[in-house]
Amino acid sequence: MNTAKMRNIFKDTDFVHRSGTAEELRVAEYLKEKCEELGVHAEIESFRVPMAEIESARVFADGKEIPCKGIFCCGSGDVEGELYYMPGLDKVSVAGAKDRIVLLDSSVIGYFAYHDLLDAGAKGILFRYGDIHYPNEDIDERDLREYVVGDGEKLPCAMLNAATAVKLVRTGAKKIRISIRQNEYDGQSRNVVADIPGKRREYIVLTAHYDSTALSHGAYDNMSGCVGLLGVMDALKGKGLNYGLRFIFCGSEERGLLGSKAYVRDHEEDIKNIALNINLDMIGTIMGKFISCVSAEEKLSHYLTYMGAELGFPIESRIGVYSSDSTSFADKGVPAVSLARLAGGSVAPIHCRYDLADVLSMGQLKSDITFITEFTRRMANSSVCPVSREIPEKVRKELDEYLFRKRKSND
Ligand SMILES: [Zn+2]
Repeated sequence: MNTAKMRNIFKDTDFVHRSGTAEELRVAEYLKEKCEELGVHAEIESFRVPMAEIESARVFADGKEIPCKGIFCCGSGDVEGELYYMPGLDKVSVAGAKDRIVLLDSSVIGYFAYHDLLDAGAKGILFRYGDIHYPNEDIDERDLREYVVGDGEKLPCAMLNAATAVKLVRTGAKKIRISIRQNEYDGQSRNVVADIPGKRREYIVLTAHYDSTALSHGAYDNMSGCVGLLGVMDALKGKGLNYGLRFIFCGSEERGLLGSKAYVRDHEEDIKNIALNINLDMIGTIMGKFISCVSAEEKLSHYLTYMGAELGFPIESRIGVYSSDSTSFADKGVPAVSLARLAGGSVAPIHCRYDLADVLSMGQLKSDITFITEFTRRMANSSVCPVSREIPEKVRKELDEYLFRKRKSND
């Protein structure tokens, strides 16, 4: 795929395309069209996602209204209490949350932290978003995830801009009131699935999510990975590979890997035929370092670094769990690897208005895709895929923690 074609894909998807929205569907249909332009048939598969329409969300500090965004799916209600800034999630900090409105130094919360706050008797939660230098009106819209609430009750929650949060703490605000009204409903998100059959019936599954967060156009995170998938598809179609290639453009990754979780749940029978998952999440930045995170046997990690050395492509590899769609496959016992060019927030910030194609280099993206294509080709053309189906103990432990089945041991 040439760089002009790549650049056009970023142009055509240069808008917010958050999970469960009409814009996300528009990108799904666009990607299906791109596959078909390459001569590869694609299907759109829908899955349910919890959605909400916020009627009103207001936060008052000592009677004065401050800018906020309501958290989707946290229910409706009014709560009032003393402000409690809680930077840590340790037991001593949590004990102070009783009857108070907790301000977290974070924009998300996990299952155990949420339930600790419920048990401690917290009345509501304020999150803080972004960088203090972002414009005041930039406040991310997030949801209280179903797997975080579990069978617990929903607490009224709101998101503040980081500068507003700092001001609350600096001025010693006392009383906080959160008032939120919303209409929650079931929505739809989609995965786009395209196959290039091989000689064997087993597949190598390549994934990349295409949804963005609420303020982001999602060029780096993760249209870059989607362009990666299309680039691999273009290079390897019609090559008569031994293993089939299945490309899945996943929806709703930004809300907790919902697309890949739906895929592995709805295709349980297929799982045994998936030899390997190769996931792309954020590639092609001007600055940054190429990494691989292998949720499989250590040999695969060594293979990638050896291959990088052979091809003159530096790659830093580790074993573990990556916060992306590879995790859903690894959790079902499929060896998985996430590939990324990590640039860091100071040169290529994500989940914000600055995630635009400007942070990418089409030349770098092209060489990243060349490496990924070569790796995919070797795996798909092996007589038997060499990666063992065993998920190492260390990775299984990390999966239990990442998916909130067990507390992190240092909690
Ligand atoms: Zn991502």
